[in-house]
Amino acid sequence: MSHGMSGVGACEQVDWELASKYLRKGFTMKLADNVEMLEIQDPGPHHPVLVWDDNSVVLIDTSYLEQNEALRKEIERCGFSFDKVTHVILTHQDVDHTGNARILREHGAKIAAGIHEVPFIQGDQPLTKITDMESADLPPERAGFFEMLKEHAPKLTVHVDIPLDDGQTLPVCGGLTTVSTPGHTPGHIAVHIPWADLIVCGDAANIRDGVLIGPNPAMTHDMEEGTISFGKLKSVGAHRYVTYHGGFVEL
Ligand SMILES: [Zn+2]
Repeated sequence: MSHGMSGVGACEQVDWELASKYLRKGFTMKLADNVEMLEIQDPGPHHPVLVWDDNSVVLIDTSYLEQNEALRKEIERCGFSFDKVTHVILTHQDVDHTGNARILREHGAKIAAGIHEVPFIQGDQPLTKITDMESADLPPERAGFFEMLKEHAPKLTVHVDIPLDDGQTLPVCGGLTTVSTPGHTPGHIAVHIPWADLIVCGDAANIRDGVLIGPNPAMTHDMEEGTISFGKLKSVGAHRYVTYHGGFVEL
């Protein structure tokens, strides 16, 4: 039996039509039994995904550190407190995904990420965005963001307990399989949940007008690689996708 039945029960009553209304209010959206898409707004929207079974609670991506309270609330809506999260999977190094990972690890969660993304997440190498922006001629509005990122990124580094290889299955919650999807960042991964017919794409894909599209060129480190990875994602054969900034789509 899973924990916190009252919260879980509330989530389970969401039907598809209602879910789209709830989404705009920042409520979670049930994607399968024991799989909820969270929504965090302002800044956002961000869509972490929570997956659980009797033994484990897995959070995929964590939003900004300043969204800590909103993230806690969304996890509580599903019936869990922060310290019940056993694993955090980070799709990549960007601070809108890693922001709360360090705090969750202090609460006991193990951190998992793509093996090629580990040095960036741990702070052994500077964030790819910082390196890319350093060598670019930035317009003034981006220059402010760059300074902010350089100042805050070192505070958000976190140790990665479980480096994930392409095709590797994390043996929790019925199996969560890594799909290596470089491009947006060098070691980006997506997470395939076969039993839910679902791929959690991170920033390897977006949704525009209800259509699943590739990574955002303006934010992607290597677009050629990103386009190849997007093709790889679609070839996995799942029919349901969550993108971190665009939400859910079923094809
Ligand atoms: Zn992002």
